[in-house]
Amino acid sequence: MSNLNEREARRAWFEATCVDLHERFGPLQDGEPASYIPELAAVDPDRFAIAAMTTDGEGIAVGDVDQPFTIQSISKLLLYGLALETHGRDTVLERVGVAPTGEPFNAIVLDDEANRAPNPMVNAGAIAITDLVVGADVEERIETVRSMYEGYLGRKPEIDRDVWASERDTGNRNRAIAYLMLSRGIIDDRVEETLDLYFGQCSVLVTTRDLAVIAATISNHGVHPITGEQVVPARVTRDMLTVALTCGMYDYAGEWAFSVGIPAKSGVGGGILGMLPGVGGVATFSPRLDEIGNSVRGLRVFEELSREFEMHMFDPDRPWRRGT
Ligand code: GLN
Repeated sequence: MSNLNEREARRAWFEATCVDLHERFGPLQDGEPASYIPELAAVDPDRFAIAAMTTDGEGIAVGDVDQPFTIQSISKLLLYGLALETHGRDTVLERVGVAPTGEPFNAIVLDDEANRAPNPMVNAGAIAITDLVVGADVEERIETVRSMYEGYLGRKPEIDRDVWASERDTGNRNRAIAYLMLSRGIIDDRVEETLDLYFGQCSVLVTTRDLAVIAATISNHGVHPITGEQVVPARVTRDMLTVALTCGMYDYAGEWAFSVGIPAKSGVGGGILGMLPGVGGVATFSPRLDEIGNSVRGLRVFEELSREFEMHMFDPDRPWRRGT
């Protein structure tokens, strides 16, 4: 009984803290929404949401949690999981390594020694992973991606077709990366199709509530906290969590691991998804980004939550261990 009360009290404390952080960081105007395409520059920069879900399926939602936005780079994490599940580790590791680059996410950098992309969380790696998505043409392959999302969300998400078209129109740097990988034999020769699919999977529409469910599922070793379905194999979530911790926050990953200390992935749409293995997931949405491409308010929320609740993975005192 007292355990139950304690759990309830902790949940109330967490919720109150999220409400407080939402109020406190609401006025923060630092940073700019991504502006490399007009659709992202046009989003309402004041939107702000915090959502969380435990591995038991208990949710917390504060602010604009039902506002759809494009998932952008957060999708890289999920596609990595899909590739590992579909093709196995050896095939994936042959094309994409697991080392952080310390470079911006769109750097034209490969792992020359092993002749592969550096890691799946930067564009080069994500394009190589996208190449592995199964299907006869782009429409079939985007359905493969949407079906993967369906396991997490209980619905096939919409794709923002305008963002997709703009990504395609402006994505020449990604084209350069892809053709470099083609010349090295890292990806297949259906390059334009794979690039199109890459731009499409950046344009998947999600809400902050959705991200919290996804984060909770991965944190729960792939078992959906509400449906109980094994959405992605447990051994695959181990690899997803590892690269999220080492490479998920662009070239801020080291500082993030040090200060926040939980595996996470961010996207230039303004989302951040954080995962506490065995405990639950936290997600934030706020479109204003710092120079590295991470959401400014999102970073602040995660820093504060990690400090207040001793969420850092290696914190010896964290009160969030399962069964306490
Ligand atoms: N569409 C962006 C790109 O490919 C996604 C980047 C991101 O969220 N970091 O450059």
